Amino acid sequence: MEGNRSKPLLRVPSPSLYDFTFQELTDWVVDQGQPPYRARQVFRSLYRNPPVRIPEMSDLPKEFRKLLSDSFPQEGPASVQTQRSSDGTVKHLSRLSDGQFLETVLIPSGTRQTCSEPSRRTVCVSTQVGCAYSCAFCASGQLGLKRDLTAGEIVQQILLVQRVTNVVFMGMGEPLANYENLLKAIRILNAPEGLKIGARRITISTVGLVPMIERLAKENLQVELSVSLHAPNDELRGKLMPVNRKYPLSELIPAAKAYSRATKRMITFEYILIDGVNDGEGEARQLRKLLQGLLCKVNLIPCHPTPGTPWKHPPLSRMISFEKLLRLKGIPCTLRRSRGLDIEGACGQLRLRYNQ
Ligand code: SF4
Repeated sequence: MEGNRSKPLLRVPSPSLYDFTFQELTDWVVDQGQPPYRARQVFRSLYRNPPVRIPEMSDLPKEFRKLLSDSFPQEGPASVQTQRSSDGTVKHLSRLSDGQFLETVLIPSGTRQTCSEPSRRTVCVSTQVGCAYSCAFCASGQLGLKRDLTAGEIVQQILLVQRVTNVVFMGMGEPLANYENLLKAIRILNAPEGLKIGARRITISTVGLVPMIERLAKENLQVELSVSLHAPNDELRGKLMPVNRKYPLSELIPAAKAYSRATKRMITFEYILIDGVNDGEGEARQLRKLLQGLLCKVNLIPCHPTPGTPWKHPPLSRMISFEKLLRLKGIPCTLRRSRGLDIEGACGQLRLRYNQ
């Protein structure tokens, strides 16, 4: 389906209980000759705050706990380091069962959305170890793709953080290149028996894999789609993002439009502002022309310093002018504040420091 990725190099780990949707777990439980309500008991324990491990699931018979432990010995990601930024962002480093590492970032907003809602706690989740897409400004792409994460490994990152209100698939890897596991993880997160995170609180960020965007549009999910754009024309985008040579803007923009029509959701376009590269008046005008008539908003993100890349963000005055030029033609636009810079937890900084 998706041709621009190399095959994962590493073996996918054996399944864990976190790889099961509620329905799959029910089927498995019934196959073992157990009553179906055991599935609900197990699922609730797995997604409790904090999660309950199999030996501590005291509402289950001892023999059934043994069957679970024997069938699913996989422990899942183990937290090995937590770094806290002065702005409240927290980065978790976890070791996977095959020795690979992944990073998960919690971005607390600190403000309540409404009186009845808790403060927003957004978790930025990884979907692959490494990435095959080699975007020029991104640390995660520098070492290539190691392997896809399983659905269970994706879900367990959210459990690591706890009290999550929003999930963004914007960490290491291209989510739509690990499509089946991503969708399964979303179904597990959605489940009323588990974490109950609504689809509208979940955002998938993509580099622009057109066939997968088209497929996602047909899934009848209400998840938010965020497209990494970063340039308003094919020539520049092709230099920053090699994937553009395969899926140029003439295919990407109509696919985004179709997604917005099918789901009635506003598309977010991410645009990293790089000093002297894509931040001029000309680019702003091209960008607003490109997005004219689309139900969308633009997130302008200052380019973060990343080892191995020469770029930096433009001066604040130029970023504000860029924002103003977009707003002039009615394109909703936000100039984002960088979060977690002091712990390399900001956009484009998740690096495979340990996955050499
Ligand atoms: S920006 Fe996303 S798609 Fe591009 S290299 Fe980084 S992780 Fe991969």
